[in-house]
Amino acid sequence: MPPTNYRPMWTELGLDLAKHDALLGVLGKVYRDYFLSQTGRPAGMDYFNFVISEVHGLRIKELMDARKAGRKVIGSFCLYVPEELILAVDGISVGLCSGADFGTEQAERYLPRNTCALIKSFFGFTLEKVCPFIAACDMIVGENTCDGKKKAYETFNTLIPQLYIMDLPQMKSDAGRALLSAEYLRFMRDLEKLSGRTITAESLGKAIDTVNKKRAALHRLAALRKADPAPISGLDALLINQVAFYDEPVRFTASVNALCDELEKRVVAGQGVAAKGTPRILISGCPMAVPNWKLPMIVERSGAVIVGEESCVGERGTQNLTDTRGAMVEALLDNVVDRYFKIDCAVFTPNTLRLDHVRKMTWDYKADGVLHYCLQFCTPYQMEAIPMERALEGEHVPVLRIDTDYSQEDVEQIRTRVEAFVERLKDGA
Ligand code: SF4
Ligand code: SF4
Repeated sequence: MPPTNYRPMWTELGLDLAKHDALLGVLGKVYRDYFLSQTGRPAGMDYFNFVISEVHGLRIKELMDARKAGRKVIGSFCLYVPEELILAVDGISVGLCSGADFGTEQAERYLPRNTCALIKSFFGFTLEKVCPFIAACDMIVGENTCDGKKKAYETFNTLIPQLYIMDLPQMKSDAGRALLSAEYLRFMRDLEKLSGRTITAESLGKAIDTVNKKRAALHRLAALRKADPAPISGLDALLINQVAFYDEPVRFTASVNALCDELEKRVVAGQGVAAKGTPRILISGCPMAVPNWKLPMIVERSGAVIVGEESCVGERGTQNLTDTRGAMVEALLDNVVDRYFKIDCAVFTPNTLRLDHVRKMTWDYKADGVLHYCLQFCTPYQMEAIPMERALEGEHVPVLRIDTDYSQEDVEQIRTRVEAFVERLKDGA
């Protein structure tokens, strides 16, 4: 069958086709170089290869078909935007990736240069008209988290017509929880208005169940990475966590569970992607959105294997399920608030839970060391990196701190530092 021609759809969405072709060309090459060149990949990764190959094609067509059928597409940039409420109005939730260096020059016409790469990325994608997800959204939710995003949304609001701002607390206090609860209630009411549907206990309960099953499948995948040898690479596991943000959730969950069935057999057979005893690294820090694969690629080509991600694209996003008990919408909404209030993002102060979580993950995944990853100019995570390094090193867990962006200019410099770190782990120092 000849490949589907998506160009009319992209034109309808207002994309700049020449720039979009250039973006897809670069992404395709990077994907082949980083992912398809790996050896010993599980067969279950075929599904995720397919998803990536159709990320701007079939998935966007699905979104557009859903919109024609009256459903709403809601985009977001942050873990605090509850997918459950979107699903409860039969909406579709998509994470807007913001993981590539594209349109930076254009973005810097609107943003200070010392803005993190993630924020510049969603400006760049919008200004260069290369993101069909942004174009396909009926509503895009910006959230008051770090200062960078909070202030950037004021300008972003002038570039897109459908921005919705969600306020968020900064402290885990009673007042903080009350704010989150009020904001989720407002969001729920606004979703109802947008979709013309009323959230019922049944629709919210079903949505919670769908999202719980997705997170449970990701927990299952994570738990299999405790094995030595690791049955799947960190690159592939990260990719799956990235795909979780924009794939259809039921299909995604089934695909992750099918992969896990295969990985369970690998673990029993002692089959891995790297030899038993390969240094094991836990990554902790800023989110790695698609297609931000630079650091994992460097780590896994430097003789180590990544066994976990303490990140929004990883266990920070999946670690807690939502309680399904409750016969009324109010009770279920309360459960959603409880679940999201536990997220240990660095925009909260104090944020001691995050260090506890990193410690636990280091132990659970038998990591030999922690690589703390920050985007340059990300004050919240950079601020947390130093005390975290002190605490972990004090407990004899080696830590490497890497600050970077989405460019390729520092690859060799990072490689040198990572290789030295891997040698340190091999020496057991
Ligand atoms: S790091 Fe914090 S602000 Fe950023 S996406 Fe994650 S939860 Fe949201
Ligand atoms: S990476 Fe840091 S600075 Fe950038 S948007 Fe996230 S929290 Fe804000």
